[in-house]
Amino acid sequence: LPTVILVGRPNVGKSALFNRREALVYNTPDDHVTRDIREGIAKLGDLRFRVLDSAGLETEATSGSILSRTTDMTANVLARSQFAILLIDVRDGLQPLDLEVGKWLRRHAHGIRTIVAMNKSESLDEQGSLTAEAGQAYTLGFGDPIAISAETGFGMAELYENLRPLLEDYILQRPEDEHAHDDTYPEMEDNGECKSPLQLAIVGRPNVGKSTLLNALLQEERVLVGPESGLTRDSIRTQFTFEERTVYLVDTAGWLLRAGKEKGPASLSVMQSRKNLMRAHVIALVLDAEEIAKTKTSLKHAEVLIARRAVDEGRALVVIVNKMDLLWGRRSTMIREKVINAVPKEIQMVIPQITGIPVVFVSALEGKGRVAVMHQVVDAYQKWCLRLPTARLNRWLRKVMSRHSWRDQATQPKIKYFTQVKARPPTFVAFLSGKMQLSDTDIRFLTKSLKEDFDLGGIPIRITQRSIP
Ligand code: GDP
Repeated sequence: LPTVILVGRPNVGKSALFNRREALVYNTPDDHVTRDIREGIAKLGDLRFRVLDSAGLETEATSGSILSRTTDMTANVLARSQFAILLIDVRDGLQPLDLEVGKWLRRHAHGIRTIVAMNKSESLDEQGSLTAEAGQAYTLGFGDPIAISAETGFGMAELYENLRPLLEDYILQRPEDEHAHDDTYPEMEDNGECKSPLQLAIVGRPNVGKSTLLNALLQEERVLVGPESGLTRDSIRTQFTFEERTVYLVDTAGWLLRAGKEKGPASLSVMQSRKNLMRAHVIALVLDAEEIAKTKTSLKHAEVLIARRAVDEGRALVVIVNKMDLLWGRRSTMIREKVINAVPKEIQMVIPQITGIPVVFVSALEGKGRVAVMHQVVDAYQKWCLRLPTARLNRWLRKVMSRHSWRDQATQPKIKYFTQVKARPPTFVAFLSGKMQLSDTDIRFLTKSLKEDFDLGGIPIRITQRSIP
């Protein structure tokens, strides 16, 4: 198994992350627990890896240099790790000790690929509010930091998205790996062309018609249902092709096989499972048109939660209003229009930070809207993994900045350049010279302009900033 070591100065939350049982560590083999280093097997989505908690190494380091115990043991531990998660405490901001840990890691951990995680971000997880911290965390020199909360599990999907390509590289490089050449580990980065298989999750409350929709989607398509080879032996993967594109259905095989007979609490927990969301690129949230017609609000509480979580976790969201056939009678015109108008409005209201989340009206039972659903799903996926070249972004930036009404010339931040550091979802960094930072309003303006000018509506976009000398 690949090994990931958790590092960071005392109290940043290494042990909390280590202890996240269902999200991260599900098994701690007790004979491996030494006084200094705890070790466990972690499970994050479909990834499995060994995780080492370096908290024990710091006990004697409360004064002075944190890793004064750069002993044989530390060296051993590092030699066993291929990856590191460097934690910082977002509430404290970047501390000198964090920089020291970073330096130490660079010096002693040759070839260890490191992800910086800004822990304790749970209360700061609204869009834009982490930008200053992220800018600081950049200076550690390990790339784009991610915001997580070991306490609440916030950001585990992003951690997954960041770890997955690293671990996959590692797994693929092992010559003895029997799966090295099959497509169990699809290519994750594709330079914006989105060639890798789209992973789609269909979620919703019981009885809204998920299974029916699933069967409609799979109709006429080549369906492959079988045990997934590789790491998760008990999960079943369903795949089909739509317009020559491979689509994996995430965690929906159960519904397919049981033909929708899984009602009640079990199904609800499926819908709410975080894992479900983490493995998916696009989340299709299915609603029931007939129920919407009967009630004042379109979205039930559980549906609001799932929609928000999908977006918080950086997934692309598509809303599907099913059972429209029940509103197709002539007498239902008014009701139908009410539903068609109400749903997009309400989605916008509960997820104000993202405009243009697609809403598709279908009848799964009659097989109507199947192609429309897939077009929206593919479209959302393509936006989600779009990569914009830096040159193009900077031409755009010059134009767009002249449109922005700055507070005043004197306090206007100077964006030296703007670049996309990551796709899936699109993540951008503004490099600033001088002392002025971008305000939340500036970030919102940039986000909105990006969405309009590059047709990125409906998907979560992240912008962080970083000061350069
Ligand atoms: P699931 O629990 O979300 O998987 O829901 P099912 O797919 O099992 O559907 C629940 C019930 O709604 C079944 O009786 C379906 O026949 C019915 N249903 C599903 N889609 C439609 C639709 O588009 N129109 C109508 N009228 N009924 C539907």
